[in-house]
Amino acid sequence: MITSHMRELKTNSMLFLAAVLLLMASCSKKSKEPEAPNNHENTEEIISYLASQGFDKQQIVFDNDRVIVEKDIILSFPELQQRIANWKTVATEQRRNNYIVSNSYNSNITIYIDPAVPSNWRTAIQGAVNNWNAVPSSRLGMSIVSSQSGAHCRVFMGFQAANWIARAYLPTSNGRPGVSVEINSNYNNLAANQKLFAITHEFGHTIGFHHTNQTSGIHISGTPTSDPNSVMNSFVLPWNGFTSADVLATQILYPQ
Ligand SMILES: [Zn+2]
Repeated sequence: MITSHMRELKTNSMLFLAAVLLLMASCSKKSKEPEAPNNHENTEEIISYLASQGFDKQQIVFDNDRVIVEKDIILSFPELQQRIANWKTVATEQRRNNYIVSNSYNSNITIYIDPAVPSNWRTAIQGAVNNWNAVPSSRLGMSIVSSQSGAHCRVFMGFQAANWIARAYLPTSNGRPGVSVEINSNYNNLAANQKLFAITHEFGHTIGFHHTNQTSGIHISGTPTSDPNSVMNSFVLPWNGFTSADVLATQILYPQ
């Protein structure tokens, strides 16, 4: 999720840590209040990083300016912040689910928006559909339908006092798109361009993309092994278009 902002943020990892919003590894987009970064935000990010490195989440102890893992391994906060900055910019690649959307559905995935979804999120949903439909040389197509009956994917509102913005299902083993996207109304005040990033990301899950900055899923052969600005990075930033690797990965999964 990082777009051109990543370049400047790379030069200041502290600023970056304060600015980015965390998304859950379990296919859900996570965030903190962007205007009010705090220690808790960093805590979530550190846990996410350490878990990605194979450390047991249950054995992470925060102790003033350091973190203790597996009872006797000590990592300082400055060291962790550097590692997290590196993790975000280097360990990124396009990754896919075992299952993607079959040709029976992938040229017209129908999306139903629950009536309770506020208009500013609807704008983001329409924008996300437009984004995926605009990928060139791909058979992928999505449309918003007015009836829930027969729609492949439902977008609806949920609420949790937690730091995920939205979460989505992956495609099923019989080739259907992820069945729903749930938006956390805790983030109704998120900036419009971050809403657009978040929903484009969630639809990415429904068509089979995993996170570029996590190790779940399978690397999509033929795509670069560094793609820090991908829409499938689990940290949200203002939408600034797909990366070339996002486009390539989509063309590989869903050729014309
Ligand atoms: Zn995600």
